[in-house]
Amino acid sequence: MEKIKEMMNSLGYEELVNIKKDLDINQGNLIKDIIKQRINDIESNDNSICVVCGRALNPHVTDHYTLVFGPSDLRKKANFCALDCLQYFLSQIKHAKIIRE
Ligand SMILES: [Zn+2]
Repeated sequence: MEKIKEMMNSLGYEELVNIKKDLDINQGNLIKDIIKQRINDIESNDNSICVVCGRALNPHVTDHYTLVFGPSDLRKKANFCALDCLQYFLSQIKHAKIIRE
């Protein structure tokens, strides 16, 4: 929340009044939309390539696979262009685990 405080300090009077109006009258719907859009942008930019072959993925086409793993506070996401790449990734993890154990 410290960053939000800093961000608020950088805003001008008019912007702050508009934000307060949105929160009071509009239940913060405009702010929610801005945040949702920003999250979508980050997620689609961070995961726009297949982690195995490096092929670019179109976020609007749903024929690719996403693997979500790790603890909830350190969630990792990996995208794959096809089942072959996902299988290859899993076999590499399995192989690496066998070597470590
Ligand atoms: Zn791939």
